[in-house]
Amino acid sequence: MTENDSSRAMRRCDSLVVGGGLTGCAAAYYLAKAGLDVLLVERNDLNTEASGRNAGGFHVQIQLEPFLLEGEEWARNWVRAIPLLIDAVRHWETLSGELGADLEVRLTGGLLAAETTEQLAALERKAAIERAAGLEVELLSRRDLRRIAPYLSSALAGGLLCPLEGKASPLLAAPAFARAARSQGARIALHTELLAIERTAAGFRVETSGSPIECERVLDCAGTAVGDIAALVGVELPIESLPLQVHVTEPIAPLVRHLVAFAGEPLTVKQSAHGSVLIGGGWPSELDDAGRADVSLSSLRGNLRVAAHVIPALANVRLLRIWTGFCNGTPDHRPILGELDEVPGFFVASFPYLGFTAAPLLGKLVGDLSRGLAVPYDLAPFAAGRFSTTAV
Ligand SMILES: Cc1cc2nc3c(=O)[nH]c(=O)nc-3n(C[C@H](O)[C@H](O)[C@H](O)COP(=O)(O)OP(=O)(O)OC[C@H]3O[C@@H](n4cnc5c(N)ncnc54)[C@H](O)[C@@H]3O)c2cc1C
Repeated sequence: MTENDSSRAMRRCDSLVVGGGLTGCAAAYYLAKAGLDVLLVERNDLNTEASGRNAGGFHVQIQLEPFLLEGEEWARNWVRAIPLLIDAVRHWETLSGELGADLEVRLTGGLLAAETTEQLAALERKAAIERAAGLEVELLSRRDLRRIAPYLSSALAGGLLCPLEGKASPLLAAPAFARAARSQGARIALHTELLAIERTAAGFRVETSGSPIECERVLDCAGTAVGDIAALVGVELPIESLPLQVHVTEPIAPLVRHLVAFAGEPLTVKQSAHGSVLIGGGWPSELDDAGRADVSLSSLRGNLRVAAHVIPALANVRLLRIWTGFCNGTPDHRPILGELDEVPGFFVASFPYLGFTAAPLLGKLVGDLSRGLAVPYDLAPFAAGRFSTTAV
């Protein structure tokens, strides 16, 4: 059966993967490699949503904004995801070899810079919780920061370095997984939207905008639509969808050596292998009348202002393009990973906010779980049951 087959003949597979982003493409690859009969359905093209529109950063640290808003108890719960994120970055390091494509993986180290003593104190409190969770982080004095990152503003007071953080290309990873999945025998049906799911004695019968499908297992890797797919089997999941934007400069000579963030205001900055500087950090885009993410000029001005404040040389660099995308979230910032208690055979994989970092390993893990294999993590904090309610 070929991709984009439009016949209405029933399709059958062991494992139906919903979503052609990085999580779904990775799941399809690992399942096909394990010898399963896999079909992936994607309503658009591959990598057209968050997986192809993100800023390409590997984030493992506790994110500062929720840490300040939600407090230390929230952080001590959230760090139960850190072992998975550490392994996820280690997993990225193997992928260019595994998939036979240079994914531009670089562990540059992540630098969270602080400007005031109050901000430094918050970084110290955060670092203590991260270290207790097994993450290597180093507090930096003003002098350390000047030595390690002379391109940062001399007004900065210090920072926190997480050596494991870094970056890869969001444009390359999901397509590389999809190519490898196909070469392992997975089928990929593009422009095929999943519309309805019925439970049967043998598993599921699925209606799509193309052919109906019968399968034993469903792997819901639908990004911001994970909750919409789960709702089709009667389970409500509170998946958030945040419209964000990323700003990209012209290529310049090597300048930004780390994944840079700032404790004073939202910011992430990294330089791609080709020299462009990606500037983001969670600045919102606007919604147009059709609900699409549209460029926000105030976020553009705000993001560039903060970037030039932290990295003064960026003030003289020209902006080349801007893109927007919807980021998946959960209310407690923890992932959802595993089988739905209410619906045996239905698996969910969704890592909020830091999903690019997690997706390749997350896809492998959800595939393993769907094959009945054990995974080396405590999944209790990631269970959908922590907030799911049966809707029908
Ligand atoms: C601007 C921005 C910047 C970000 N920066 C970072 C970062 O630097 N680091 C980081 O770790 N994370 C970052 N993220 C988050 C990260 O991009 C996402 O968490 C991650 O890509 C989610 O991957 P996914 O494969 O689970 O979902 P997606 O990439 O959203 O893929 C889901 C796919 O499912 C498809 N789908 C949905 N419904 C259906 C249906 N009914 N039928 C068929 N197909 C369906 C969609 O079309 C989509 O292609 C950022 C996100 C954004 C938007």
